[in-house]
Amino acid sequence: MLSPGSDVQLRKSRASGVSSASVREHNALSVIAILREHGPASRADLVRRSGLTRPTVDAIVESLLADAVVAHTGNQTVPPGAKGRPGQLLGFNAGRNTAVVCRSRRDRLEIRLTDALGYTLAEVAAPIDHTPEAFFREAAEHISHLVSTVPGAGPVAAASVLIPGLINRRTGASISHPPWGWADVPVQAALSKHLQIPVTVLNHASAAVVGEVAHGAGYGHEDVLMVLLDFGVGVGVLTGGALLRGADGAVGELGHSRVERPGRLCVCGRSGCLETVASGRFIQEEAVRIGGESSAGRTLAELSALSDRRVDLMLAGAADRLGLAVSGLVNVLNPSIVILGGTEFAAGAERFFDSFRRSVQENSLPANAANLEFALAGKDSEWSGATHAALEHMPARLRPRQSFGI
Ligand SMILES: [Zn+2]
Repeated sequence: MLSPGSDVQLRKSRASGVSSASVREHNALSVIAILREHGPASRADLVRRSGLTRPTVDAIVESLLADAVVAHTGNQTVPPGAKGRPGQLLGFNAGRNTAVVCRSRRDRLEIRLTDALGYTLAEVAAPIDHTPEAFFREAAEHISHLVSTVPGAGPVAAASVLIPGLINRRTGASISHPPWGWADVPVQAALSKHLQIPVTVLNHASAAVVGEVAHGAGYGHEDVLMVLLDFGVGVGVLTGGALLRGADGAVGELGHSRVERPGRLCVCGRSGCLETVASGRFIQEEAVRIGGESSAGRTLAELSALSDRRVDLMLAGAADRLGLAVSGLVNVLNPSIVILGGTEFAAGAERFFDSFRRSVQENSLPANAANLEFALAGKDSEWSGATHAALEHMPARLRPRQSFGI
């Protein structure tokens, strides 16, 4: 929001040669931000909150009404006995454009249609073929069908897709995802061609860190290490408020760091990876080995609730190994918070989280661990982050104010 001294800032901007068009747009974005964050307001409210003059606000509002970015939402209620006519209320028109958010799971594709505030308008989940050509065709068909189920929804302006495995963030290609047989699959290019809109491709851990910082435990932090614990182990990193990309964008594959030699065979084709001793896959396999088939498919919280000493020991060992690996990243990246979880498998796993936190604290350098915060995430981090990623590519006036450079 602009401070009451905005007009002073505006004059300074003119003096420093910033174009009047960019000042106008800056002021328009400030008015939009007020409506996004505080809900409907009258023109008088906008003048008061923005610090802009009434003629400036009037001009901005007319432009935003013409662009359908704001709309009239009704009249202010006037207290009994008050004089004067009620002011017309203006609201952010979140339905002007929509976004599509896709999350690929092991055997299915989940798709949400959201408005420009990220609220879900409709969703669908469908089995999907992992052959690249079939995947793109079927995804486009599911998206078209979903959009058609919401009559009156604004045109889809942007999409994001969560894909497991290594992603090239520069090209939006899947570098490698062995379980699907994917190698150098041009996800972004193919889906952009099918959908005719900007498509952002992210892995689950990168989306999770964005989600936690935008709306969750990482809110207000700029240096965040998110450990996404699911079947595998991924890491999402925010440094200085921006998503860490790396040279090719292939950031975050902590699960395939070798911690044992020779070690067990890993899904990546190598052996001794962290995932072979501290992932959801390892934990669930060990739980079945200890407790039989009745333990299959349980979450971390459910396994803890069994109060089986052998299961507890196995979980404590996995949490310690995961904490040890993460402590190395803490020493390198110096985050202000480490967030664990972000998946249905890890949600509510308080005891596992306590063991993990202890291990990170004990194994990190004291200087890095001294002020380090920890949080256990809920299960929706990656959805929230993927939605934010799509919204960052909406038309400029519809984008969220906070950008992670996705
Ligand atoms: Zn591996």
